[in-house]
Amino acid sequence: MKRAYNFNAGPSALPLPVLKRAQEELLNFQNTGMSVMELSHRSKEYDAVHNSAKQRLKKLMNIPDTHDILFLQGGASLQFSMVPMNLLGKDKVANYVLTGSWSEKALKEAKKIGKTHIAASSKEANYTYIPRLEDIQLSENAAYLHITSNNTIFGTQWREFPDLPVDLVADMSSDILSREINVGQFALIYAGAQKNLGPSGVTVVIIRNDLLERIPDNLPTMLDYRTHSSSNSLYNTPPTFAIYMLSLVLEWVEEQGGVKAIEARNKEKAAVVYEAIDASNGFYAPHAEKDSRSLMNVTFTLPNEELTKQFLAEAKEKGFVGLAGHRSVGGCRASIYNAVPLEACEALAGFMNDFYRRFS
Ligand code: PLP
Repeated sequence: MKRAYNFNAGPSALPLPVLKRAQEELLNFQNTGMSVMELSHRSKEYDAVHNSAKQRLKKLMNIPDTHDILFLQGGASLQFSMVPMNLLGKDKVANYVLTGSWSEKALKEAKKIGKTHIAASSKEANYTYIPRLEDIQLSENAAYLHITSNNTIFGTQWREFPDLPVDLVADMSSDILSREINVGQFALIYAGAQKNLGPSGVTVVIIRNDLLERIPDNLPTMLDYRTHSSSNSLYNTPPTFAIYMLSLVLEWVEEQGGVKAIEARNKEKAAVVYEAIDASNGFYAPHAEKDSRSLMNVTFTLPNEELTKQFLAEAKEKGFVGLAGHRSVGGCRASIYNAVPLEACEALAGFMNDFYRRFS
């Protein structure tokens, strides 16, 4: 069987060894005579999976004891609501940096909960760049500052994070575990799993423990972070299979040499694709400004609609999947998350160079 060169934005490629291991273990997990999906979430076998995922993530991301790890459902989209519900409070103001459609969606939900403020934005330039740190203007009484660390649709990524006297909240759905970060700098991090962490169905939240103290008492039980923190994310039935897959992906990251090694490889992979763009004399026009380029989602347009269609059709024939850009940017997008091998990026760059030579 030939595996596709998978450049989907999410859900996206999973490491092949992880899929093979899941396949091997599918019918009989650790001699239980059951699939991992058939285990009770209160069994000791499942408990070991659950805690191994948590411990591995803690170690790989160097998460300090000041922070707890939660496995929730509802996707990153539910976090757009849970963050303000839990952290905003009556007299405070939720601050947002707008760097793309996902930050806009996060802001939209916060507006339903309380007062908000746009601390910086690159909307006027169709989100081609990440605002400079010195241009971020906090409101008075800021409850938190929300950023989107990687903008999946526009292909931009924060290089450095704001270091301001305010709790920093980050949507890291599309670049968690792709590079080393200082978790201690963040009050809360959230990420849907389906790009770098595993299949969809589980959402990781990393929350500084003292934030739990400011949560209002009138929230629905399932939307209150304290419910999940106090029950080790086992208040109700968790997405057990997704968490099992997460633990396998984390084991794979360890085998690759950890986040540092993954980061080095991600830089190498992105450089290969950006080189094909930069060597094309503008034939492939990058959407993102150079110093805001994402290592995860490479966005570019071709000279016209016809060439874009031709490019995508030929790409499909060669086994490259998921290269059509999002409608708000147009053109193409190559999502090159952790599980996409260097070889796939090299093959894509080779195809791009060849297409450019034939059609420029
Ligand atoms: N935030 C970012 C940066 C994303 O890329 C996505 C999905 O692509 C989401 C949020 C929404 O995630 P979910 O589908 O898990 O709700």
